Parts: sequence; C-alpha cells; structure tokens
Amino acid sequence: MHESNPLLSWELYPDFPSMTASHVVPAMQEVIARSRAELEALEQAAPRTWHGLLVPLERLTDRVSKAWGLATHLHNVKNSPAMRQAYAQTQPLVVEFYNRLGQSRPVYDALVALRDNPEFGSLSQALQRAITLLIRDAALQGVGLSPENRDRFNAVSQELAELSTRFTNNVLDATQAYALTLTTKDQITGLPEDSLRLAASMARARGQENATAEDGPWCVTLDLPSFLSFMQHSSRRDLREEVYRAYITRAASGESDNLPLIRRILELRRKLASLLGFDNFADVSLERKMAPGVDGIETLLRTIQEAATDPALNDLIDLGELARTQGQTEDIQPWDVMYWAERLREQRFGLRDDLIRPYFPLPAILQGLFELIEELFEVRIEIQADVPVWHPDVSYYRVRNREAVEIAGFYLDPYARSEEKRGGAWMDELCGRSTVCAPPGQTVRLPVAYVNCNQRPGLDNAPSLMSFQEVTTLFHEFGHALQHMLTTVEHGFVAGISNVEWDAVELASQFMENWCYHPETLSGLARHYQTGEPMDAALLDKLLETRTFRAGSNALRQVCFALTDLALHTADPDQLDPIEMAQRIAREILPLPPLPEDRFLCAFSHIFAGGYAAGYYSYKWAEVLSADAFGAFEEAETHDPARRRVLGLRFRDTVLALGGSRHPMEVFRLFRGREPDPHALLRQEGLLSANKDN
Ligand SMILES: [Zn+2]
Repeated sequence: MHESNPLLSWELYPDFPSMTASHVVPAMQEVIARSRAELEALEQAAPRTWHGLLVPLERLTDRVSKAWGLATHLHNVKNSPAMRQAYAQTQPLVVEFYNRLGQSRPVYDALVALRDNPEFGSLSQALQRAITLLIRDAALQGVGLSPENRDRFNAVSQELAELSTRFTNNVLDATQAYALTLTTKDQITGLPEDSLRLAASMARARGQENATAEDGPWCVTLDLPSFLSFMQHSSRRDLREEVYRAYITRAASGESDNLPLIRRILELRRKLASLLGFDNFADVSLERKMAPGVDGIETLLRTIQEAATDPALNDLIDLGELARTQGQTEDIQPWDVMYWAERLREQRFGLRDDLIRPYFPLPAILQGLFELIEELFEVRIEIQADVPVWHPDVSYYRVRNREAVEIAGFYLDPYARSEEKRGGAWMDELCGRSTVCAPPGQTVRLPVAYVNCNQRPGLDNAPSLMSFQEVTTLFHEFGHALQHMLTTVEHGFVAGISNVEWDAVELASQFMENWCYHPETLSGLARHYQTGEPMDAALLDKLLETRTFRAGSNALRQVCFALTDLALHTADPDQLDPIEMAQRIAREILPLPPLPEDRFLCAFSHIFAGGYAAGYYSYKWAEVLSADAFGAFEEAETHDPARRRVLGLRFRDTVLALGGSRHPMEVFRLFRGREPDPHALLRQEGLLSANKDN
C-alpha cells in the first residue's frame, strides 16, 4: 500500500483533511496499475472454481472502485479547479480500466463455464446472481465485439464519461454565474424574514460583507434553496419572471451551453446501443432494470397520467382563481405557479414555511430519525467524534446491531456549500460489506455510507431549521444508506445497493420518506427548537394533508420527465430535436405548457450526467413498490399493531438485508407475500377517484 498517498493509505477511516487534488492522479494510476496486473495474472490462470475466480476479481475491482469513489466524493463535496482537472485527467484511465475488465474474454469465458457447470445450482443464491450479473454486464460492456468494434465502443464510452462530467460542471458554473442583487425595500416585498436572512447570507458569500437581513443588499441565486424561497414569496412578479427565466435557461447558452453536449450524448448512446445489437439506448438501459420493457413502463406512466390529469387541471384552476381574487389581471404564467401555490397552501393549510421550520431543527430531527430506525430495525446509532472529516460541519456515526456489535457507519454532510459542493441530496458509499476485502485481522469489511444533503445551515446562532421537504429528503437518503449498511450479503458484487436494479433502488429510500407522513411519527418529530413545544395538532393534521396538495400536478411533472427521457432514448438521434421533443411531450401532458424558450433539459443532470438515462421512470416505478410496502405497516396499524415489530424486522431482513443478491421482484414478494399493486401509490397520493377507491 502507498504510504504517502492519503487516498490509499487508510484502513478504516480515510484521512480526509490531508487529501488534496494532487493525490488523485497518482492514487488512481497506482491502483489501476496494480489491478491491471492482477487481472492479467487471473486471465493467465483462468481458474475453474468460483472461489479462484470471484475472490481475486472482487479484490481487484474493489481496489479501483474504492479509490475512484473517494475521488468522486471529493469532486462532489470539495470541488475546485484543481480537483476538476485531476478528476478529468483520471476519468479516462478509470473508464479504460472498467472496459478492459468488462471486456476480458478469459474472465467472461470462465464465468460462463461456471454458470454452465452442473454444480452452479448448488452455489448460494447470492453467488449465482453475482455470476449471472457479471456475465450480463460483460455482454453490455462489449465482451462479444470484434476488436475493431470494441475500439469503437471504448472510444464512445470514454467520450460519454467526459461529456457527463462536462455537463455537471456546466450546470454548476451556470448556477454560480447568476445572482440577482436586490438593494431596495420595494424589491423585497413579500419575502419573509428567513428568506431575507438567506438572501443576505448569499450576498455576504458573494463579497457583500456588510449585507444584513434588515438592510440588504440581498442576493437571489439559482441554488435551489435560494431560488425556491424567492419564487414562492416574492410578490414582485417582474423579478420572479426574471429569476425564473434565468433558471429555465441555465447552462443553455455561452460557454456553459449543454445543448451541444445533449445532442452528442444521445448520438453516442445510440451508437453504443447499435454496437451491442440493440435498437436503441432505452433497451440497453432496461437490460439492467427490473421493469420488463418500455411498454410496461409506459402503461404504468399512462395509468398515473390518466389519474392525475383532472386533479392537475383543477390545481391550475385553483391558482388562477386565487390570483384573480388577489388582483392579478394576467393569466397564470410559469413564474406565478410557485408563488400562488404557496399562497394557496397558506390559505388552505395556514402553513407558512417560516412557521414550520422552527419545529424541524436538524439535531432533533436526526434524533427522531435515529430512534425510528433503532426501533424498526433493532440497531443502535451513535456519533463517533474522532473520525476525520472533510468539513467541520460533517459528522461520523457508527451503527451497532442488537448485540452491540458494530455493523456499519456513515458520514453526514448536511448543508449546502455552493462554492464547492454539488446541489441536491445524495447517498454514496465509501466502501461496501465484503469478506474478500476485510481489513487485516477482521473477517468482514463493514459498509460505510456518505449521506449528503443541501439544506440551509443554521443562521444567526439558531440550529439548521429544516423545511418539511428537507426533512423528507433526509429520510429518503437514509433509506438508501440503510440498504447499504444493513446488508447481510458478504459478496461485494451483490451486497447492499450494489447491483440492485435502478428502478428498485428507490424502494428503501421512499419507504423511509413515508414515515414523515405517518401521523404518530411526525408528531414525535415536530418540536419547537426554542420551547420544545410539540406542534399544535391542527397544524400537524394540515401538514399531513399537504401530501396530496397538488399531487396531480406533481405526478404529471414526473410523468412528463419520465416520458421525455424514454422518448429521447428510443428516438433516432438523427431525426431528433431534443428541445422540440421535450416541448411537445410537455404540451401534451401538462396543463400549463412550458415557455418556448424553456431549456430545462440543459440542467437535467439525472439523465445526462447521472445514472437515470432511460431510467427516470424509476422514481415512479419504485414509488409503487414503496407505497405498497408501506401499506403493509398501515394495514397492521389498523388490524394488529403488534405486527409492526414483525414487519420492521421482515423489511430489514428482506429489502435491506438481501440487497442485490436476489431479483427485486423476488425480494418484494418475500416482504409483501405478493407482487406490487400500483393502486397503492394512487391511493397514497389521493389520485383514486371515489368510484375506483374501494
Ligand atoms: Zn434516491
């Protein structure tokens, strides 16, 4: 092991403070060289047993993915010009390594020989699935291609990896580049105090050292918390329009224009598909999914669309009426929607964001979340102070089982830092559970997760006060982390979230989100940060009712994204104008059509830079699974409260424990005793009309 490179020289906890961009390139060069040499030795040996093959294979793969995972994490949370450069410089080596590995004919032949051996059936299910999936992945990696086509395939995947990094950086740059500075009181009308505090802190972050919430100047940026807070509250329609237009044209012009990248990405994905013998990229993507095919997905999406269309139309009518009674003479425009939806929400529920946040201080929410996890899954979570972290706001926690044995750990990085951290919330892994990769003297390596959020930090000596949505996001990411951490599978290839199909991987996360809408759980969570008072029962009921508020509109938006994504990846890119296609689908589905200049695609990182290409539907697909899984707990509550304990442990022992070691449909059936029912989701969102709801 390299003694001086902190990316490599650690066993339990990486020394984050000593890592710099300059460590990335040498670390990756070193691990790739070692793993390559081991791969060559393995190819020479061509072992005939699963042990002889899979053990070295896991070790050499893990070495690279662990180091690259660290580099990716730093790129995500400590972004800088030097880090970008190091990352961009290393990425081709990594892609090349994975292609080399996936395309290894000797390894592939050895895997196929194992699968075709009569003894295959006597291997554990986890091993059988690991072998089957490795064969599938090798096929998708081009193992069967002629040398000439393989070169083409590799060139395409290299370029795709580079394009996706550029796509992300463009979105980051374009988001950073925009700020609307407000200096007069008439420009801030409507903004509540916490929005003003946020806007003043944004101004200070941008060099206006003396900015205050009372006297300004105030800065509105395109970071989600700042953007949303302004769009929901500013009564200056003209300024809302200005900020909205900036938002929907992010990364759509100038140096950070993503449109040429989108065209190229779609073209290259098509090329990749045709090299592999598929009609289009959607078919390639679905090879690794739970859903049986594009048709099955479209059927589900159209079912949701049908149920959601009337409710969404009514939502828009409601906004129009409210706007008219409040004196807006023009029709509702896209920059009015968030504003009037927020007014309607206030009117209907009396829930102003700034009235809600004080009940959700981060420390108490974490405590409540941990208690829920501890109760449901019989584990213990405790903070561990001596673990090195990459920023003072980050904490490390360890997880113990009922017998107090340490089984996992996680880092929590809760706050937005737009100067160096990417947006959104996400869970990632430092390392996964594995016996093969156990540290010296131990029988198993414990899984460690990163949980990253982008909520606003505490301001003016108050703790971070969370919106309800930030609370549900935190629960969501913990669902992912739990599936990573509570796995009992010991083969790294299929432990935790490894090799869980994309469209099933949101099951655990959305399942956890559901607890935020569980009355008893929510009432335990919501306590005022200064007085400790529980939230008033009427307020709490209203918060719960918000779940179905504008559910039709929200569902249609997701259906629209999902269908756009599928259409972009099934159409022939030569015949395709991506923007026009996105516009056409949106006009067909949404009651309020997008502006002609809307370029949301240019910031649609999920499908152009994340793992959701021809997979955005996964959210809805998995929502069906999670709503139906949570339904088991709701049914128990009515009929047999003592069952909750049984169900919690069963969820732990199936969904959370089995991870990628079984097909997700089988895992679901093990938990629920039957296949998933889409009506569970429609019911949860209040989208079943009375005659269907029985
Ligand atoms: Zn998720």
